[in-house]
Amino acid sequence: MSPVPLPDTLCDLNGELLPLSQAKVSVLDRGFIFGDGIYEAIPVYGGRLFRFDEHMARLARNLDKLRIPAPTGLGHRDDWLARARRVIAAQPSSDQFLYIQVTRGVAMRDHVMPVGLEPTVFMMSNPYKPVPAEQRHHGVACVGARDVRWEHGDIKCTSLLGNVMARQIAVDQGAAETILFREGPQGGPWLTEGSSSNVWIVHEGALLGPPMSEHLLEGIRVALLRELCEEEGIAFNLRPISEADVRAADELLLSSAGREVLPVTRLDGDPVGHGALRGKPGPVYARLYEAYQRAKREQSI
Ligand code: PMP
Repeated sequence: MSPVPLPDTLCDLNGELLPLSQAKVSVLDRGFIFGDGIYEAIPVYGGRLFRFDEHMARLARNLDKLRIPAPTGLGHRDDWLARARRVIAAQPSSDQFLYIQVTRGVAMRDHVMPVGLEPTVFMMSNPYKPVPAEQRHHGVACVGARDVRWEHGDIKCTSLLGNVMARQIAVDQGAAETILFREGPQGGPWLTEGSSSNVWIVHEGALLGPPMSEHLLEGIRVALLRELCEEEGIAFNLRPISEADVRAADELLLSSAGREVLPVTRLDGDPVGHGALRGKPGPVYARLYEAYQRAKREQSI
């Protein structure tokens, strides 16, 4: 048993609503044995899901990549939406963070992917923890580290030990996130992403992120930020970004479902940016944050 008491909010396990403390899966679930599963984490504002269809499209792509079939009764987007809304409606808070996990299912332990298994589907929705005002105002500190993870960073799988270890590097130094760099065939080190976020730089007024590849997750906020930049008249480009580019950036930002867009104002102890804005959140962040708040109001379903 966990030494920390678990909240007894209702969750959904394989279509059944039950208190979190009573939701149990088999020890032979391949999620438990191999980390053989995928997940999504979707913000919910005022009881409404933000960018739900984009999250569902990524979930479907990831199931395909791992050859996990659609779970029974969840063949269509509307089925997922109905299940998700039921869990959301069962929570006391209106701003939530919905977590959906699908594993390959239960079978005797064997590396071979068994066919014909019924996937295990778990959903819970926790109160949304907004970024503290102090962090929004002053930005957060990050540390850099070598990206030692595997080359399937594009799959949002539950095997997250590499990411867990990466995050702990930041936690051990009192920082908010670890920004990862990987050597490439054309030298490097190149920026990949954060332990649980995408990373952006601002250079000459443009928002720049690394190109999507097997080395990083295509966050749902990648396409969103592209749209917001278009609306705001901010140039947007995905291109290889060296570690030196990151350290010389005018602004440095993180994006994720939980952090929305968040300014990084110190990297390995050095202030980010130049001139009067050195060590302070910058103007591109401020515009994107406002545009993001507008998108939340307009696009949640
Ligand atoms: N990269 C990693 C490794 C992540 O865990 C996340 C958070 N899910 C992201 C990027 C950002 O993705 P999203 O915008 O979908 O939250």
